[in-house]
Amino acid sequence: MIISMKPGATREQVDRVCNRIQEMDFAVRSIQGDERVVIAAVGLGDVTHAIEVLRSVEGVENGVPISAPYKLVSKQVKSDRTVVQAGDASIGGDEFAIIAGPCSVETEGQIMACAEAVATAGGRFLRGGAYKPRTSPYSFQGLEEEGLRLLRKAGDSHGLKVVTEVMTVTNVQLVADYADVLQIGARNVQNFPLLKEVGAATSCPVMLKRGQSATIEEFLLSAEYIVTNGNPNVFLCERGIRTFESATRNTLDINAVPVLNQLTHLPVILDPAHATGKRALIPPLMRAAVAVGADGAMVEIHPDPERAWSDGAQSMTFSSFGEMMREIEPYVELWKATRLQAACVPA
Ligand code: PEP
Ligand code: MN
Repeated sequence: MIISMKPGATREQVDRVCNRIQEMDFAVRSIQGDERVVIAAVGLGDVTHAIEVLRSVEGVENGVPISAPYKLVSKQVKSDRTVVQAGDASIGGDEFAIIAGPCSVETEGQIMACAEAVATAGGRFLRGGAYKPRTSPYSFQGLEEEGLRLLRKAGDSHGLKVVTEVMTVTNVQLVADYADVLQIGARNVQNFPLLKEVGAATSCPVMLKRGQSATIEEFLLSAEYIVTNGNPNVFLCERGIRTFESATRNTLDINAVPVLNQLTHLPVILDPAHATGKRALIPPLMRAAVAVGADGAMVEIHPDPERAWSDGAQSMTFSSFGEMMREIEPYVELWKATRLQAACVPA
């Protein structure tokens, strides 16, 4: 971090700042300037806290971090891209990961039919919520453990990995017993006890969704919670953020993909269903996901979207999902070629 002193700061004030820096386990690397002193400090401590403290010390004008506040998820710490492995399927490697399934697991027939549709279209991951974070307490809340059981059965019957949301600390172990990937939803992106638990209690892959109003930095700090608590198998999902625009449910922040790719080695996927709330908008955004260099995408499908118990308007029919999967094939081929080329170019 760099601490700049006010013009005319006294020698005693500069010394006091240096002492405080050292007390917080940073080393003072240089002190430059006569009229306006600038102090450079390095270390692995909590930079955000240190700057907050130093800004309040007399004579200090400002403090800025040099490195990002997240460390383990940062490209500065690990330059090669992380591949999250879920059995024989992966996210971040040389396959464009497709996660598809209903918003909520409803019945055995429904989830079985969805699993068949995903496998037929070439997807590797079956999604489905058993614990649902719903805005209204009167909306369907999920089948809970029965939903997990049905999801596992459907996934196993069709050779698919299952992705499902965990909402509470007390359920992490239970959900991890059934799932191949734990989803942390938008509303829980800053549920710090939950992030710590999925970090410490399991090595099951985690799909962390961006919060409706989470900045990229906050999003990465949430991922850092999981990794620093012991679970490195994390990938990120951009699912749209809340803006002034009301034409769509959320606004897909397509910038997030290249921005995250610059900042982190973790894989990034897009969720055009929750980003738009409209099934007709999913195919063009799916093409965008491939073109922008995402590692995969997640969509919602349903055997009868009009009768879905949640998120029917953004759920695709099996036939339109199949058609979209065929339509993106040439784009995915190009994506693979680009990946391969990037892997051959030394960083
Ligand atoms: C979901 O994926 O079903 C979901 C609830 O998404 P989000 O947390 O992004 O709203
Ligand atoms: Mn949904």
